[in-house]
Amino acid sequence: MSYSYDSENIFAKILRGDIPNATVLETDYTLAFKDITPKAPDHVLVIPKGAYVNYDDFCQNASDPEILDFMRACGQICKDLGVEDKGFRAITNAGEHGCQEVPHFHMHILAGKVMGPLLA
Ligand code: IMP
Repeated sequence: MSYSYDSENIFAKILRGDIPNATVLETDYTLAFKDITPKAPDHVLVIPKGAYVNYDDFCQNASDPEILDFMRACGQICKDLGVEDKGFRAITNAGEHGCQEVPHFHMHILAGKVMGPLLA
C-alpha cells in the first residue's frame, strides 16, 4: 500500500520547529516528547523524523537504521523513565479503526500507574 503524507500535520510542524515540544530524547532519526494531554503520569510520544503516516508505512518503507534507532529510542526512554521494573505500555494507533488522530507514525509510551485492560 502506498501512503500520502500530510506535511501540515502537527508532528511535522514539531519536527520543523514550527511549534514547541517538551523533548525527552532526540537522535539522528527519532524524536521523543511529552504528550500534551497525558493519559498516564508518564506519557511520551516517540516519532521517526522521516515522513511515515503509520506503523505499516514505517515498517514497509523506513530503512533498517531508522527502524533500529526508533526501537532503541523506545527502550532508552523506558530506561530513562525508570519504569522497566514496574512496567509500561507501548501502543500505536493506526488508521480509522485504530482511532489515529495524528497522521505521522508514533508510539505512545505510557507508565506510572496500572493501565488496566487494553480494551476496557
Ligand atoms: P493518536 O490518537 O494515536 O494519533 O495520538 C495523538 C496524540 O498526540 C494524542 O495523545 C495527543 O494528546 C497528542 N498531541 C497532539 N498534539 C500534540 C502536541 O502539540 N504536542 C504533544 N502531543 C500532542
